Amino acid sequence: MKLILLGAPGAGKGTQATRLAEHYQIPHISTGDIFRANLKAQTELGMKAKTYMDAGLLVPDELTVDLVMDRISQEDCANGYILDGFPRTLAQAAALDAKVQIDAAVDVEVPDENIVSRMAGRRVCPACGEPYHTEWKVPKKEGICDRCGAELIIRKDDEPETVLKRLVVYHDQTQPLIDHYGSMDRLVTVDGTLSVEEVTEAIVSALEARA
Ligand code: AMP
Repeated sequence: MKLILLGAPGAGKGTQATRLAEHYQIPHISTGDIFRANLKAQTELGMKAKTYMDAGLLVPDELTVDLVMDRISQEDCANGYILDGFPRTLAQAAALDAKVQIDAAVDVEVPDENIVSRMAGRRVCPACGEPYHTEWKVPKKEGICDRCGAELIIRKDDEPETVLKRLVVYHDQTQPLIDHYGSMDRLVTVDGTLSVEEVTEAIVSALEARA
């Protein structure tokens, strides 16, 4: 199963990708997580990506495409994978389409007005990347990661001004991918305002109906 998760920042792609990766037993590949890991390790890629990420902009395609192409050619991707946050531009989609045929692109739909309030509650573990939310995914111990015990943080790009910028970038550069995958008959649309469990169920049943 080769899946793409589309949707605005804060639509719940990361949460759904984690759940779907478990369900289908395939790797969850998040370009945002890869950039953040590089930033933490202070690699050249991480330093370059930081400028764009902090500003709410997309990292240039030339820094992004090869990274993903390399990752999906690794052995653990032989039975499929879930791409979370890639592709985000038509050029990235063209590069992916030229290499593999994906099974479905899942659009997790959430209206803009819900996004900003959702983002305000987002927290993340800086050590293992596990996402949390002050309302919907509360850690057992406040402010502490259930998985690895590190102290949770608010990502710099989840701050309100950056969120608004990211939404503009999303509509401008990523939303056209919905029509792109629609025209290839690969699009699955789900209502991202439902509960986490309901969204996962909706995705899995839509994918089963297509199989
Ligand atoms: P995310 O965690 O998916 O919201 O990604 C965080 C940030 O990483 C984005 O706001 C972009 O700056 C960058 N990023 C992640 N994936 C991509 C991509 N496919 N293309 C360009 N930039 C990306």
